[in-house]
Amino acid sequence: MKHALLMLLAVFAFLPAGCSKPIAYVSLPYRPVSEPLIQQYVAGTSVENRAIEYMVLGNGNDVILILAAIHGSEQAGIPLVLQLSKYLQENPGLLDGHKVVLVPIANPDGVVHNYRFNARGVDLNRNFFAADIDETESAENAVFAEPENSALEKIIRQYKPCRIVTIHQPLACIDYDGPGELIAAAMAEHCPLPVRKLGARPASLGSFAGVILDIPIITVELTEEDSLLSPAALWNLYGRTLLAAIVYPDRL
Ligand SMILES: [Zn+2]
Repeated sequence: MKHALLMLLAVFAFLPAGCSKPIAYVSLPYRPVSEPLIQQYVAGTSVENRAIEYMVLGNGNDVILILAAIHGSEQAGIPLVLQLSKYLQENPGLLDGHKVVLVPIANPDGVVHNYRFNARGVDLNRNFFAADIDETESAENAVFAEPENSALEKIIRQYKPCRIVTIHQPLACIDYDGPGELIAAAMAEHCPLPVRKLGARPASLGSFAGVILDIPIITVELTEEDSLLSPAALWNLYGRTLLAAIVYPDRL
């Protein structure tokens, strides 16, 4: 008995310090019962130091990025994206196989000042890596001088969306860049906005994501009057349009 006790003490003497902690302090890997349905993150900060927040819902391999208010004076998309987040949390079956990344306010300084540009007067939707500048250089090396562009670029690189929806005003149509025509058509079935090809503007998100990265990107141009609608009314008009982009190629 005495011999066994001595052996036990000897074993403890050779254990690393961390192993001699009382069992209650041994850290076990944290295994939640289920993943939380929504996770919130900050992708970066604006010129005036406002957080550029985004949410991730679902855990599927089919990733959809939806953003609003890259032009700060085009704000109707913000409540629409927030309504979408609420609806998806209430209807998680829509997330089966999908991961939805939502950026409700891509240009927080512009929104605060009700200003199209960022706080340095830069149009963020004309400030992405431009195909016509140097197509031969890898987009991996793209440098974005404005922090709001960098934040979006970081999200795109990290999540590698299969399609992107960006919400603007006031041109009242659904536009697309890259291989996005069929998605645009599927979305237009659910709202009064027609599909209309506006053409990719140099260094726009459409050019960067759609043309350079070959990601289908849909630009939803709401109307000017949509700014007057309540979040619920916006959702009634355009909710299914956004859901159509999420479930694509399935139909609602
Ligand atoms: Zn715009």
